[in-house]
Amino acid sequence: MTAHAPGRLPDDTCDRDPIWDRELETASYEQAVERASGIWEKQFAYLMERSPYYARKFREAGVGQARVGLKDLSRLPFSTKQELKHAIDESPPFGSNLCVPPEQVKRVYQTSGTTGAPSVLALSRSDIEAWTVIGTRTYFATGIHDHSSVLTTFGAGPFVAGHTHFVLSRIGSRSVPVAPGDTDRVLFGLRAGLADTLLSTPSFAQYLANRLEKSELDPASMELTHIVTGGEPGGGIPAIRDHIQTVLGATVTEVMGIGDIAPSLFGECPEQEGMHFCGDGHVWAELVNPETREPMMIETGAVGELVYTHLTRQAMPVVRFLSGDIVRIGPSPCECGRNTFRMRVIGRRDDMFIVRGVNVYPSAILAVVGTFRPRVTGRARVIRKTTDVSVPPPVPIEVEVPDGAAANGGLMEEIESAIHSALTFRSKVALIPEKAFGESGYKTRLTVDRP
Ligand SMILES: [Zn+2]
Repeated sequence: MTAHAPGRLPDDTCDRDPIWDRELETASYEQAVERASGIWEKQFAYLMERSPYYARKFREAGVGQARVGLKDLSRLPFSTKQELKHAIDESPPFGSNLCVPPEQVKRVYQTSGTTGAPSVLALSRSDIEAWTVIGTRTYFATGIHDHSSVLTTFGAGPFVAGHTHFVLSRIGSRSVPVAPGDTDRVLFGLRAGLADTLLSTPSFAQYLANRLEKSELDPASMELTHIVTGGEPGGGIPAIRDHIQTVLGATVTEVMGIGDIAPSLFGECPEQEGMHFCGDGHVWAELVNPETREPMMIETGAVGELVYTHLTRQAMPVVRFLSGDIVRIGPSPCECGRNTFRMRVIGRRDDMFIVRGVNVYPSAILAVVGTFRPRVTGRARVIRKTTDVSVPPPVPIEVEVPDGAAANGGLMEEIESAIHSALTFRSKVALIPEKAFGESGYKTRLTVDRP
């Protein structure tokens, strides 16, 4: 696996430093704390003065006028998605947490509104720049350099994923934009040799791999060497990653961000052992116990929920935002030279359910199902009959199988037994042909409510 120089993709022989901001990304934890503490002091004063929302929230939490330093951050209350939405609703369009005059809002993104009406994210000129800086470190860490040519399916529509275009242009790579899920144009671009790198969701990369596996087109005839997945977990699940890498003959690395904080905040380097935190100087990350919300050390092996605080955001700054992402911290420092912490997403808090006292994340089910390829496509979802977090066994799971696959010959039972031995709960597997499973999803929902 180490047929490459540290921090570099295989066959990348350029002489560029593979770390975008060497001083910052190789700094020790102590140095990072020191830098962030100074910036946070100003940000805290800024919030008290400019944000009616946080001034009130802090007052209600009994913080008073006393300064709260970075090391005492846990004295401040958490912010939730619902609260931020509420802050917008009480003073639309930008809400009571807008800290700049509206004329200084220079870019507005919308959130998908999967839970209710769309919400907005407002950015000042310097906020746009901060997102670009963080995103540039992120994508550079994955191995994208100025010599890369990047076919991106991260749409430029109303959503924050579109910010990737600023990032690619900052790195100086070639950008070949394609609409999300437009398979024909992606295939055209790859066949024509327009790009050596693909940015897509893992669902889409998986779909592409399944499709090429069945077609006469030899993936080796394409120049594709690198796939960066984002938008959902999957690129870090071995069964999914290995399949995409083997069929498409490319290295898979993943990125992750969160709209309310920064759209590209973590980037996995070619060592492929988790995503590096790339927000230093602009975003402060904490880890908390998912049940008690007590602060945890960010150290190798720790499992917790990520919480974020903006250090420099001007327009809609957020403090101690509960991300809902449950992650496992990886080892550091990394071979690539970065000293920033690495992590792998275990799952979304909202997707988690409990079977007889055991916490289950649907991505763990994907990891098991994926090992049954090529008899399955790799997609699967959990059917939730109630909104209860507790699910009685057997847990209903739908597994996608290729259209026209011959009678399954015991496949259901084999998957049920593999899930039982890996995850210790009983399931009831239904095999669903591709046509019936639904759109060859650009994103796959891991749980579906179906009373
Ligand atoms: Zn690394």
